[in-house]
Amino acid sequence: MLIEIKPADHLIASCVGKPGNRTFYIQAAKEDETLTILCEKFQVQQLVGGISQFVKRLSEKHPNLETGALLDDVPDLVLRRPIEPLFRLGEIGIGYDEDSELMVLIAQELGQEVVEDDYQDETETVKVRIWATCLQMLQMADHGEKQVLSGRPICGNCMQPIDAEGHFCPKSNGHK
Ligand SMILES: [Zn+2]
Repeated sequence: MLIEIKPADHLIASCVGKPGNRTFYIQAAKEDETLTILCEKFQVQQLVGGISQFVKRLSEKHPNLETGALLDDVPDLVLRRPIEPLFRLGEIGIGYDEDSELMVLIAQELGQEVVEDDYQDETETVKVRIWATCLQMLQMADHGEKQVLSGRPICGNCMQPIDAEGHFCPKSNGHK
């Protein structure tokens, strides 16, 4: 099954929940049609890095590419609720269409486990194509990166995250 959002008028990678217990989502919408994908923090991290590298290469090839200036505050850059993910993200890729001058994210559902059972053969993975301008993609990446980085602080001693309730540092052998 293929779902296409072209072009997206809302595009965000963000999270909900308290630090240490956050859930990450990629969300896109066109008018009233909202699409939410559940993902891992590292996937958002990879996507953010992937988008900025992709746009960098793209703008070397197309010097007139409209990447514009990022806005500090985009009013629409919040997850729309209710958050109802369609699937959990497996693979995600980035592309560009010269004719429409739009970038595309191609996201695929995390594959079902292969079951040695003929009845399970027909499960079809869902694929999504989200089209948006380079500027929208950069804006999403910029915002997404801030979300990823706003997690728990890291202990300089053991490099583990520090919870709000306190931190038992395995490197300190019980000493403070
Ligand atoms: Zn520590």
